[in-house]
Amino acid sequence: MTIDTDVAIVGAGPAGLTAARRLEQLDIDFVLLSKEEVPCEHKVCGGFMPSRALKHLGSREIPGSYPVRSIRMKFPNVELTTVDFEEPVGINATRKVLGEAMLRAVSRSSRRVSLASEVQSVAVASGGCSLSYIRGGEKQQLNCNILIDASGVNAVSAKSGLVRSRIPNDGMGYAVQFEMHRSQSMPPFPEANYFLYGSEFSPRGYAWAFPRGHEMAIGTGGLVTSVQQSQVGLSEYLERITKNTGFITSVLEGAEVEKKEAALMPLAGVVRPSFSEHILLAGDAAGHCSPITGEGIYYSMIGGDAAGTVAAEAVRERDFSAKFLSRYERLWIGKIGSDLKWGLWLQKRLVRSGSSGFGSRLLKSEKTTRTIAEMLVGMRSVTSTIKAVLPSYLGSKISG
Ligand SMILES: Cc1cc2nc3c(=O)[nH]c(=O)nc-3n(C[C@H](O)[C@H](O)[C@H](O)COP(=O)(O)OP(=O)(O)OC[C@H]3O[C@@H](n4cnc5c(N)ncnc54)[C@H](O)[C@@H]3O)c2cc1C
Repeated sequence: MTIDTDVAIVGAGPAGLTAARRLEQLDIDFVLLSKEEVPCEHKVCGGFMPSRALKHLGSREIPGSYPVRSIRMKFPNVELTTVDFEEPVGINATRKVLGEAMLRAVSRSSRRVSLASEVQSVAVASGGCSLSYIRGGEKQQLNCNILIDASGVNAVSAKSGLVRSRIPNDGMGYAVQFEMHRSQSMPPFPEANYFLYGSEFSPRGYAWAFPRGHEMAIGTGGLVTSVQQSQVGLSEYLERITKNTGFITSVLEGAEVEKKEAALMPLAGVVRPSFSEHILLAGDAAGHCSPITGEGIYYSMIGGDAAGTVAAEAVRERDFSAKFLSRYERLWIGKIGSDLKWGLWLQKRLVRSGSSGFGSRLLKSEKTTRTIAEMLVGMRSVTSTIKAVLPSYLGSKISG
């Protein structure tokens, strides 16, 4: 096989673009192929990017984004609670805005980034990895030493039966999201992100409402298995939330649904394997998404960064074996494995159980409420949240 480039990346999402940035910094030859003209323009997402992800991108502000300084949480049997932060804890933006910002952080040299290029199949042969893709209506081929598959939850390599198959339904989330707009003659939506837990809002998952000026992303979801078993469809949940939930309905005054979309997200914790000979999976393709919040932009950036780092080492050592690439899995697990593992633990106990009492037991004090809010906006790790909250949770459980 004649090798065209050392590293091929599929996908211009947070994982793929971060891997590209790392390879560029390390001066490693790569080509990134992604199907959309503008990265992630059509990706269904709430668009909340926490401050830690902005920091990783090296960007304090993104034009066209909206700062988040306040969140509102609704737990079963507890009043709606507001937590305000002194500094913005992140931004809300469309994925088009975020995709353009992440692309700016990578060289646009045409040799390296090929947008509007849809990969159709991937094959591993002796000596490399071969990709077939369509660009401008023409079928093309690219041969590489390493593929970083960052093509999202329905990873292109999984379709070709490489590395592993798709995450099963009991570890996969499914969500429906409305994009709502209101006229520019009205004031913008108030700047607060809503997190809504309990059976009124979702089938054992959660619902969210993230404002972006005159636009609001409002969605709900749960594990595919819970959605399948639910008597109430996700669209019906959203109708109820937007029309019959007083504190949301009042915020949405004058807003119309412009788009209704659905998508999957991996919620399975640490998923192995994430590599095989010549291939690394990164981002949603590797399950790099929080099982408790569905937050994946930051985790995908960390996964992409680790993939770029290890791909560069493999290129320097000329070793593309599964044994060498196994260091990738150790690297990302060391960075985000604890959040994914304990996030799954929390998901099973708090959200998946459908317990209606956990909210009232957890949110006894202002301190606990703030601790949970900090986890939801990515300011606090899952383990430090569990350590901080568990004593009062157990105490309240014992006392009654
Ligand atoms: C409804 C919903 C709401 C969410 N809200 C949030 C949120 O508010 N905040 C947050 O942090 N996370 C959120 N997430 C999770 C987050 O969107 C993902 O975890 C994150 O985008 C994963 O990044 P990625 O780079 O792995 O993949 P993606 O962002 O999915 O990017 C994959 C890229 O691969 C490209 N691609 C796919 N197939 C091919 C192919 N065959 N050939 C070429 N290119 C291809 C796509 O065009 C895209 O550019 C949400 C997810 C869902 C479903």
